[in-house]
Amino acid sequence: MSAKNGWSRREFIQASCATCALAAVPAPALPAGLYLSPPRRVKDLHLVEARHYEKLPNRKIRCKLCPRECVIDDQERGYCGVRENRGGTYYTLVHSRPVTYHVDPIEKKPLFHFLPGTMAFSIATVGCNVECKFCQNWQISQVRPEQVEAFDMPPEMVAEYAKESGSPTIAYTYTEPVIFQEYVYDTAVAGKKKGVRSVMISNGFIQKDPM
Ligand code: SF4
Repeated sequence: MSAKNGWSRREFIQASCATCALAAVPAPALPAGLYLSPPRRVKDLHLVEARHYEKLPNRKIRCKLCPRECVIDDQERGYCGVRENRGGTYYTLVHSRPVTYHVDPIEKKPLFHFLPGTMAFSIATVGCNVECKFCQNWQISQVRPEQVEAFDMPPEMVAEYAKESGSPTIAYTYTEPVIFQEYVYDTAVAGKKKGVRSVMISNGFIQKDPM
C-alpha cells in the first residue's frame, strides 16, 4: 500500500490480519429459536487435574501431553500457558471454559467428505502449543486464560447445544485442541451419549497415549 493514501505497508498488513482473524473466529452465537439460554460468562479459572503427566522430585512435574514434555516447577505453567503446577499436582485451567462457540458449516472446518452439508457446533479455549507467525486466531491462541473472558460450558452442556442446534458433530477448532485434551475427551463422551460425533481440527502435535 503506498504512502499517498495514508497507510504504511505494515499498517495495511496489520489491519488485514485483524480483519481475517475476526472472520476466522466468529462471535459466540447460538442459532435463533433455540430454547436453551446462552452460557454464563465467567472470569474464574476452573481447575481439573491433568491426565497426562508424571510427578518429579521437588514438586516438579513433566507434562506428557505433547512432545514438548515441559518440565515445570511448582506454581509455574507449561509452554502452552493453560496448564499449571500447584504443589506438585498438574492442572488444566481451561476445562469447561471455551472462549468462543459457534455453529459452522462442517465444510468450514474444512471437512468436505464427512457429513457434507451439515453443521458443526464449534468450540475453542485459549492456548496453543506452537506459535506460528501466520496464525489467524492469535488473539485467542496466544493468550493466557486470565486475558480472555470465557464461558461456563461443561461437556454435557456442549453436547446439549450441539444436539439442539441440529449439529451432528462437535468441532474442537479455532485454537489447538491438544492443549484442552481433557475437555475434548469428556465432551466427546458426552456427545456420543446423545448421538453427536466429534471432529478435532489439530496440528497433531500430541503424544501417543493421550491420542
Ligand atoms: S501440552 Fe503444554 S505444558 Fe504440556 S508439554 Fe505441551 S506445551 Fe508443555
